Amino acid sequence: MAEIFYVHLEFRTKNTEWSINLPFLCTKCGVCCTLDDFLMGGEIKVLPEERPDIHKKLKVLYDTLAELIEKGVDIYDKYTTSTPCPFLNNKLCSIYPIRPEGCRQFPNTAFGMQSRDCEALDRFKKQCIALKRGRNTTITFHFTDPKFDSSTASKTVKPAVYTDKQYQICIVKLHNAGITADELVLFNSLNGKS
Ligand code: SF4
Ligand code: SF4
Repeated sequence: MAEIFYVHLEFRTKNTEWSINLPFLCTKCGVCCTLDDFLMGGEIKVLPEERPDIHKKLKVLYDTLAELIEKGVDIYDKYTTSTPCPFLNNKLCSIYPIRPEGCRQFPNTAFGMQSRDCEALDRFKKQCIALKRGRNTTITFHFTDPKFDSSTASKTVKPAVYTDKQYQICIVKLHNAGITADELVLFNSLNGKS
């Protein structure tokens, strides 16, 4: 599995402090991998002699874009917002280990959290709001280890501290916010419940 983006929520009341981890589970739908997003993603840090195939694709892309911008901004915009990233292959990133930093960080970017195209992100934001509602909350943003493994997750993520009752309240809130079965498995694993 790849690294997982998650938020660590710390709750404070008059008498208690407790915390929980809420992960974002990408469903690999490929929607965010349009050319438009890729162009905002940043550099691919690999030399032409190391990966000539990548640099060949990039040259074709940038030549095409240069032609399109000559034809007009509207034509250019229509192309970049409707064309998949050239490195998207069967809904998977073919350059995943060396993808641009913006792709790597999504949705933890300035524009990532504003995205309205990612259904998984919509659910994640609803879950986050549900957990925070009515509570004095501090949120911090994290990624798991790149070689994330659900069996050891609780030892490698920021520790969550809660009682059984607090955990069960979170589960009810997450169900009401539409958490999926896969997301629940990951939630349990990041909170030491797997
Ligand atoms: S749109 Fe969301 S769920 Fe789909 S690939 Fe992108 S991050 Fe993953
Ligand atoms: S480089 Fe990979 S992650 Fe980034 S937009 Fe292209 S296919 Fe998606």
